[in-house]
Amino acid sequence: MLCFLCPAMRYILVTGGVISGVGKGIIASSIGMILKSAGIRVTSIKIDPYINIDAGTFSPYEHGEVFVLNDGGEVDLDLGNYERFLDVTLFRDNNITTGKIYQHVINRERRGDYLGKTVQVVPHITDAIQDWVERVATKPVDGDKRTPQVCIIELGGTIGDIEGMPFVEAFRQFQFRVKRENFCCVHVSLVPQPKTTGEQKTKPTQASIRELRGLGLSPDIIVCRSQNPLEKSSRDKVSLFCHVQPAQVICVHDVSSIYHVPLLLENQKVQAYLIDRLQLQVSTSRPSRLMSRWKELADRYDRLLKEVTIVLVGKYTKLEDSYASVVKALQHAALAASHRLDLKYIEAADLEPRMQHDDAQRYHHAWKELVGANGIIVPGGFGVRGTEGKILAANWARIKKIPYLGICLGLQCAVIEFSRNVIGWKEAHSTEFDPKTPNPVVIEMPEHNPGQMGGTMRLGQRKTIFKKSDCLMKKLYHNVECVEERHRHRFEVNPKMVKDLEEKGMKFVGHSEDGERMEIMELDDHPYFIGVQYHPEYISRPMKPSPPYLGLLLASCGKLQAYANRGFRPSPRMSFCEDDYDTDEELEDATSQLSVEKTTSTS
Ligand code: GLN
Repeated sequence: MLCFLCPAMRYILVTGGVISGVGKGIIASSIGMILKSAGIRVTSIKIDPYINIDAGTFSPYEHGEVFVLNDGGEVDLDLGNYERFLDVTLFRDNNITTGKIYQHVINRERRGDYLGKTVQVVPHITDAIQDWVERVATKPVDGDKRTPQVCIIELGGTIGDIEGMPFVEAFRQFQFRVKRENFCCVHVSLVPQPKTTGEQKTKPTQASIRELRGLGLSPDIIVCRSQNPLEKSSRDKVSLFCHVQPAQVICVHDVSSIYHVPLLLENQKVQAYLIDRLQLQVSTSRPSRLMSRWKELADRYDRLLKEVTIVLVGKYTKLEDSYASVVKALQHAALAASHRLDLKYIEAADLEPRMQHDDAQRYHHAWKELVGANGIIVPGGFGVRGTEGKILAANWARIKKIPYLGICLGLQCAVIEFSRNVIGWKEAHSTEFDPKTPNPVVIEMPEHNPGQMGGTMRLGQRKTIFKKSDCLMKKLYHNVECVEERHRHRFEVNPKMVKDLEEKGMKFVGHSEDGERMEIMELDDHPYFIGVQYHPEYISRPMKPSPPYLGLLLASCGKLQAYANRGFRPSPRMSFCEDDYDTDEELEDATSQLSVEKTTSTS
């Protein structure tokens, strides 16, 4: 039903041309961010035209990390970009796949909802897509329960892909359903600059716009991804051949960090264009500080001088996207600690003794990297390969007192290591890897159902209650009584073994709400040896680094003690996070102190 009092929802469809992997997701999130900085409430939907229902069964080798939402949805990692850039909380329905749409339509067909009609791609699938988008767009995502004003929809893949066709057709119809003035289209394309001539080539962009128009969608903005800033002649060519004004051709060239992308768009007046094109109501009474704080962030990143070396001991180290959120969380924390992150990946299996014979060079290289690190992180993972290497990394960190953060499997490996080498249970293991171990220190959670692979883990947001008030992690979390973080696991620390572990100095300082699950581990007599059963990286934000990650980075660059001495409050140099300051005045004060420091250091 149409509500005459509420303004209509506005939609921005972001499509891609020429090739995938040019940063469409970052550009789409940046568009959202610049609108948010104008005080507009923004939500987003990511469409993945594959047949899988969700990302739950994906191999990180093929698709990169599986991102987990509060509601337990296992989704495409691009949803992580939206959450981080827009500081929103999305739901599983914000990720649409062909599989989900077909499942929905087939279920309705079985219920007899189509009254005996032939069920077809057009109109049934295309209608289902449009209904889904309209329904999800209105869901509040900001925590303040207010309906969003703009929904950014990113269509995965490139225009012309067979899988994407029903979606393109759905949006061709959708622009009439919601009216042209409430719908606009941003096309992200590539302008290559081949070395042979050194010239920017606009032909691929022209061809992909022709294809888009042929399918019934006309671009309002054409974003050209290029290595160098777009030359005027290239901009004019795109404008002329693609039938748009030069101002509608936007250049996003390669930049030092993704933090610059919203600024590039802003400089080319994308915000003003969209506000005008979609007739958005903007409150001018209180200009948002978001953009200037974002600019500070981008500048800070460029000015970082000191480096901190963190090694990530993992299994899917060949594809960087496999640990996308972990890497982002490390970057957020490094920036807050004013250090450039030098991240090294170690293939866990390379640390194992048999590697000495199989490939001695790899073995020595891996150990050299591990030994040279300021801090070690063992992220989540599945499957036995590399677990002994991870256990060795935890052992090195514990004995040599190197800062260590174990996430999920990383916590479990630290527990196994401690049980074997401190308690002396030589055969201690997780039943995931050795079902017959006499010392099952990590066991399968009773309620998990192994019959089906997708969506059967302990997933999503859960509460962790601090059991001790005098523990480092509670202080890092600013002394709250409980924290809510996201989970994705089937195994847990065996509650029966906790007493023995604690007696030897491995403390479980945070438990699940029912007290059953060990959520946070801290080691006595170590500068920073932490394990968490949850994945704090999923809710880390550029301006709100995740506390366990911040602790790791501060400890790794020797700043944790100073942070503790300040009562776990950041120095103005460290952070621009509004939440770190109680009043607006305190934040202003901190920011102005920083500008004084900046002017003195540059003058
Ligand atoms: N494989 C382990 C489990 O299922 C760890 C999972 C993870 O690290 N996300 O409990």
